[in-house]
Amino acid sequence: MRKRIVILGSGESGTGAAVLAALQDFDVFVSDKSSIEEKYKKVLKEYNVQFEENQHSPELILNADEVIKSPGIPDTVPIVVKLLESGVPVISELEFAARYTQAVKICITGSNGKTTTAMLTYHILQKARLNVGLAGNIGKSFAYQVATENFDYYVIEISSFQLDNMYQFKSELSILLNITPDHLDRYDYKFQNYVDSKFRILQNTSNKESFIYCSDDETIIKEIKKRNITTTQFEFSQTKKSVENGAYLNKTENEINYISNNKQQMTMQIDDLAIKGKHNVYNSMAAGIIAQCLNIRKDIIRESLIDFRNVAHRLESVISVHGIKFINDSKATNVNSVWYALESVESNIVWIVGGIDKGNDYSILTDLVKSKVKAIVCLGKDNTALHKAFGDIVPKIVDTGSMLEAVRTAYYLGKKDDTVLLSPACASFDLFDNYEDRGNQFKLAVRTL
Ligand code: ADP
Repeated sequence: MRKRIVILGSGESGTGAAVLAALQDFDVFVSDKSSIEEKYKKVLKEYNVQFEENQHSPELILNADEVIKSPGIPDTVPIVVKLLESGVPVISELEFAARYTQAVKICITGSNGKTTTAMLTYHILQKARLNVGLAGNIGKSFAYQVATENFDYYVIEISSFQLDNMYQFKSELSILLNITPDHLDRYDYKFQNYVDSKFRILQNTSNKESFIYCSDDETIIKEIKKRNITTTQFEFSQTKKSVENGAYLNKTENEINYISNNKQQMTMQIDDLAIKGKHNVYNSMAAGIIAQCLNIRKDIIRESLIDFRNVAHRLESVISVHGIKFINDSKATNVNSVWYALESVESNIVWIVGGIDKGNDYSILTDLVKSKVKAIVCLGKDNTALHKAFGDIVPKIVDTGSMLEAVRTAYYLGKKDDTVLLSPACASFDLFDNYEDRGNQFKLAVRTL
């Protein structure tokens, strides 16, 4: 009898998994608790995949041999609880798809910087004319590409939710950018559970595989010390004076040194990097090390680091109006990414912040806010936490209820040479569809000034 694969959730990853499973001749069924987007329904029909929407029918799901669960669905929803109780294996789309490709997988995880680093790495590999696919949060899912393409390399952005349901998956190059508290609601509010999830990226690896990580990140270092990691290690740092393998910042020359076996391989001037800010120095270090691991020529790496164009909504310069610069950092949905945004702006800042607070601890921002922020414009349904954290340390803090109002207020509060920075530290769903909608509304509002 054909093996029955049930897929829970029919977004990008679920639909991709369904296509791959159908092409592999499984008995496939897709179930989504919400309605399925028209474009995905069309794909399911094209591949003759049975599906249901707005419900989970237990009799069609519990008879599965294996279930592929969308990363957005927590283990606590009743249908998943039932599946786990009855011993049905529940895996992620990446786990499933990896069974059907021989390609080299370059897997990028971390709390912040995944998309940027994945895009930058993809850019370098493409310039080097490698046959490479980009998978994760951008574009087509990994499973869909495995089903329909024939790439030799994949750059994959991996979230902790994906990692949670990966077991046999082996990443050839694993990149861990940083670990700071995020999504703790999915990890029993225990930071260690989230850390463990991130380290799953190394499962099944040995010295034949590579592990590239930020050695300035205390959580990562503490965890490495606890574990017996055999994967070949490369570190990157902006504080160390040198490293054995990886990259470090030479502060005197203001350049990145890429090192292999204690020997300098390549240098890169910080001012020449396409993407700015301390966090992007880390991202550029990581991508450069990946490229070196793949023996890509230095001139190609250098050229790519110089001419890369960053994705929208990440410290994206919009325009200047009467000498006031506007920056859209709508993707900054946690406190750590805001820290890097505030750090990277050199002028006085009018800071637009707020939305759905995921239990933020704003204290790490206090010093930067004190020294750079002259006014705060709150943009969220509930701004209590912001008033509590910053009410006493910033000269002005005001509440607004729409993007247009927020932008106009910020413009009014700013003066020549200031920067208005949208870097919300929060999710967007109280007032916007998603972070892209929030960023686009910001840009539109700025253009009406
Ligand atoms: P992710 O895909 O992990 O969410 P993005 O590349 O989309 O990461 O960036 C999300 C936010 O984090 C943006 O505001 C960006 O400016 C900031 N950011 C990017 N790289 C880093 C980094 N290495 N450390 C901290 N923050 C970063």
